[in-house]
Amino acid sequence: MQIIRRVDRLRSAVSLLRRQGGQVALVPTMGALHAGHMQLVKEARQRADHVVASIFVNPKQFGANEDLDAYPRMEESDAAMLSEAGVAILWAPDVDQVYPPGFATSVSVAGVSDGLCGAARPGHFDGVATVVAKLFNQVQPDMALFGEKDYQQLAVIRAMARDLNFGLDIIGVPTVRDADGLALSSRNAYLTPDERAAAAMLPRAMQAGIAVIEAGGAVEDATGGIEQALLAAGFTSVDYVTLADAVTLEPLEKADRPARLLVAARIGKTRLIDNMAVASH
Ligand code: AMP
Repeated sequence: MQIIRRVDRLRSAVSLLRRQGGQVALVPTMGALHAGHMQLVKEARQRADHVVASIFVNPKQFGANEDLDAYPRMEESDAAMLSEAGVAILWAPDVDQVYPPGFATSVSVAGVSDGLCGAARPGHFDGVATVVAKLFNQVQPDMALFGEKDYQQLAVIRAMARDLNFGLDIIGVPTVRDADGLALSSRNAYLTPDERAAAAMLPRAMQAGIAVIEAGGAVEDATGGIEQALLAAGFTSVDYVTLADAVTLEPLEKADRPARLLVAARIGKTRLIDNMAVASH
């Protein structure tokens, strides 16, 4: 696996791969890799001939009070995992290769970016859309893979790729979970052992809420029940518990079309998100 930090070298390495024939897949990450990221790589290997993974902790998607400096960085062990998994190129750009001096452009996807995490983290999805647009243009892959774990991010990227004719396939990969159901996340490393134990209530409460909705119960009873269960388990606060249209992410009062239950809640200093499909009726 080649580790590349500059755009000109990336371009020549990708054209070399292309000359060998076949499709190129991109797996964008911020590093601190776990089995969720590696599932994206595995899926990419199955669908494409060459896999480019990127590691870039994108300053533009962190708010002023967020964890940019504390975000875990472990490139050496990440690189070993990616190489072992058959990744051809690790694109680990220096910051000036993504945001050169004078960088002045922002990509903003209205509507789907606005509610849920977009409301709690102003500017976050503009930062995500901008960096992903850059990565798409730098690597020029045939497909890019993203986790359903970050469901709103996936919806924003699908909308951006369609609106701006990026001409690549966006592939969503189901969330990889720990044995107790908690979605894997680089931020789980922040949890104390007690917080980690309590965090298992997140998927459990969501499943209980979904059972209520799917049995025809009121959505607000289900969402209220989830919020109470989280606070009782030791969560500090709940940002949102929302049933939303699975594509537009507009809030729903009934699961009368393909829907998703999305939750963000804080435990101690750590903000956790999760989402699950809800059967429509
Ligand atoms: P991140 O490094 O957190 O920016 O995540 C990089 C990619 O991995 C994103 O597309 C995430 O949605 C995806 N991802 C993170 N956690 C998981 C997980 N538990 N299961 C599946 N994909 C994930």
